[in-house]
Amino acid sequence: MTQKLYYDFPQITAWDTEIERMFEENGKCYLTLKKTAFYPEGGGQPADKGNIGEAAVLDVQERTNEIIHEVDQFPASKIVSCSIDANRRLDHTQHHSAQHLLSAVLLELYEIPTLSFHLGKEIVTIDVDAPSISDEQIAVIEKQVNDYIYDNLPIHTYYPDPDQLSSIPLRKMPQVEEDIRIVEMEGIDYSACCGTHVARTGQIGLLKIIKTEKNKKMTRIHFTAGVRSLKEFQLAHNEMTEIARHFSTSKEMSLEKIFKLEDELKNVQKELKELKAFRASRTANDLKESMNGNAVCHYFTDFDFEEMSMAASELLASDITQVLLGCKNGLKVLFAANGESEINCGITLKEHISKFNGKGGGTPQRAQGSFTQESDLLDFLTEMKKIL
Ligand SMILES: [Zn+2]
Repeated sequence: MTQKLYYDFPQITAWDTEIERMFEENGKCYLTLKKTAFYPEGGGQPADKGNIGEAAVLDVQERTNEIIHEVDQFPASKIVSCSIDANRRLDHTQHHSAQHLLSAVLLELYEIPTLSFHLGKEIVTIDVDAPSISDEQIAVIEKQVNDYIYDNLPIHTYYPDPDQLSSIPLRKMPQVEEDIRIVEMEGIDYSACCGTHVARTGQIGLLKIIKTEKNKKMTRIHFTAGVRSLKEFQLAHNEMTEIARHFSTSKEMSLEKIFKLEDELKNVQKELKELKAFRASRTANDLKESMNGNAVCHYFTDFDFEEMSMAASELLASDITQVLLGCKNGLKVLFAANGESEINCGITLKEHISKFNGKGGGTPQRAQGSFTQESDLLDFLTEMKKIL
């Protein structure tokens, strides 16, 4: 039977051993070792990765007490040097111990049981049996978990006999009946668990609750611990420093500065809209003088679509019945009519626009289109002018 170094000597990340068995299944290569530190996926904790000789380990699973390593190739020698990805293992170990501690505190403070645990590369979560948890409760929970981390309590693992087991106040009943492994955070938590754990709570480093969200009738708590928390803090700190530098202020004043700029922007947008309306109205008056019957056709070289629409509304509110307008800014056209016109703008525009490589359509009273070439837009206006 394979010696499980990840239990006996959890600090080992490199070792030499002998390959016991190599076999292929569904085109994949597998092998077993005399001694392995590769943790097989289980108890919510993903498998370790690393190397066995020149082979990369892709996955590790436990099958009937055998540790099966999936590898990308079979090593040439039976005697192999092995190594696991120590950073990945540390990340898993810190989060697994952090999860036990967080689950214990949820139960201790608010009698909230943990139902499941997900340890992923991007996110780590637990689902707990509570419809919601308030921000105040989260603050209390986070403080208590970190206080236990600072207490640097020892974490023991052992296999009790059935008599001993019945006297252990387990947080959750185990799913198996034999070879039950207990992970004890001294005085706080007793769990049946097959995962890897730090030796003392202090090695969790830090636990930060990121957010909570509703998940059916449960609450999902996102958290990070250890090195991952430090990396997130470094990233957030760098980003905040960059934002503060960009706005020439301090980190503390950045948010206030952003709100102030947002207010200023809203005022500027409001003023701009009023100015556009004013300019559109003046232009509409000028255009009435160039009207052709009851219709106005014009190409704007300085208006955008919004201003052009404002001018159109202004014109159609007077004795103009149809407007055919185009703007250079955005290469758009607007064909609109008031109730007195018999022309169907949507159908007429659609009928002609495709001949000039444009796209568009609309309702009987208002249609719009767009072009990619200015020359096409101008040719379209010339053609449409004839039917006004
Ligand atoms: Zn566990």
